[in-house]
Amino acid sequence: MSLPHPRELARTLEFIAEVCNQRRVGTLGSATSLRAFCAEWRFPGASTITKADADATWAHVRTIETMWDADRDTAAVMANRVFRECDARPHLVRHDGLDWHLHGLPAGAPIADAIAVDAAMAFVDLVRVDDTARCKRCGDARCERMFFDLSRNRSRRFCSTTCQSRTNVAAFRARAGQL
Ligand SMILES: [Zn+2]
Ligand SMILES: [Zn+2]
Repeated sequence: MSLPHPRELARTLEFIAEVCNQRRVGTLGSATSLRAFCAEWRFPGASTITKADADATWAHVRTIETMWDADRDTAAVMANRVFRECDARPHLVRHDGLDWHLHGLPAGAPIADAIAVDAAMAFVDLVRVDDTARCKRCGDARCERMFFDLSRNRSRRFCSTTCQSRTNVAAFRARAGQL
């Protein structure tokens, strides 16, 4: 079975969705929490994250969320803006057992910029194949978590089976109440 997108792209989109989700619900608020989060996701440079890095990341999170919710044309314009503002320098690298892949910034660049440029590069791939619609929010209005829909026909509506069954139960109760 082949996924509609390479694993690396899906992982990047899951990472940036999770940064935004955790920031929104308040579990990412400090440099310490961002350090732990990035270490967990094996994001390069996690161990040296400072408060300034965290603050710069939160500023980019707003852009990334807007890009996530945007239509294809807007996402394209926003990705270009991120490349300009972060001075992106795409180059191919092979390291740590990973085959050739694209890095958007030189090693040692600010982590906030690295996150934003990674997000923008992921959106470039989605814009090119006209698949930005896979960037979704949970259909449960109390949740609204961002998630990347990897389903074959782009039909997934909820971030988790928990949200799906909660919504199904609510719809069932509403129907039952109308009888
Ligand atoms: Zn790499
Ligand atoms: Zn949800």
